[in-house]
Amino acid sequence: MELNKSNYFSLEADRHYMSNSQFKSFLPSYGGCEAQAMAKINGEYERPYNISFEVGHYVHAWNEGTLEEFKANNPNLYASTGKNAGQLKKDFQHANKMIEILENDPLVLKALAGQKEVIMTAELFGIPWKVMLDSYQPDTGMFADLKTSKEMGGKFWNTEIGVYENFIYHYGYTIQMAIYAEVEKRVTGRKEWLLPHMVVVTKQDPPDHEIIYFDYDVIEQSLHIVGKHIERVKAVKSGNVEPARCEKCDYCRLTKKINRIKHFSELSLY
Ligand SMILES: [Zn+2]
Repeated sequence: MELNKSNYFSLEADRHYMSNSQFKSFLPSYGGCEAQAMAKINGEYERPYNISFEVGHYVHAWNEGTLEEFKANNPNLYASTGKNAGQLKKDFQHANKMIEILENDPLVLKALAGQKEVIMTAELFGIPWKVMLDSYQPDTGMFADLKTSKEMGGKFWNTEIGVYENFIYHYGYTIQMAIYAEVEKRVTGRKEWLLPHMVVVTKQDPPDHEIIYFDYDVIEQSLHIVGKHIERVKAVKSGNVEPARCEKCDYCRLTKKINRIKHFSELSLY
């Protein structure tokens, strides 16, 4: 299957290709759930609309240079009632502030320069993967991903290994950067990985922003983590193994049937 911008996020593409987000959507340690992941792939479940995803798309459209087109094609960005009627909704007015912060920082513009939204596919761990690089600068030896985040700091509890971690680890951004670096390396036949960068802008008012880079050690570690989980993910996705329900996510709560009465002390803390 040949990928382009209009079919990259389609169900068909998700069925054919593995991606960073699909891989993590199978893993409870990244907030994933096998049952929900399969329901999405089978077209039985869609995550409810979330305005913060749309803010992400808005800021990405700016990076791609297509913001005016994006605004014209998405009338839902504008308030239809209230004193704001006809104006951008508050969230997108704030997104403009986020963009302004990025536009006014020369190092950010340098990190985000190059080719935009570059789609690549390659075989990894015996299956085809798809990636989309927000900004691609092979001559400079780097690529960059643009992220909108609630905030920069904060600690997140990892239930699997019982430690606090930062948001980069918590959301598996290290995994994403490693997969992107490896796919790019295979596609180009490059000997070394490009250095992954992440430009983060927060939804705070005023927004904070940062440029973060990742090294070869974390790429290696992260690919190792993917390798540890990929056989199970492949088995579930191919339908050979029944997906496990997490009983915590939106999908599981929506489709839950109680099959056992719990003792009061069994309720988990995290
Ligand atoms: Zn679940």
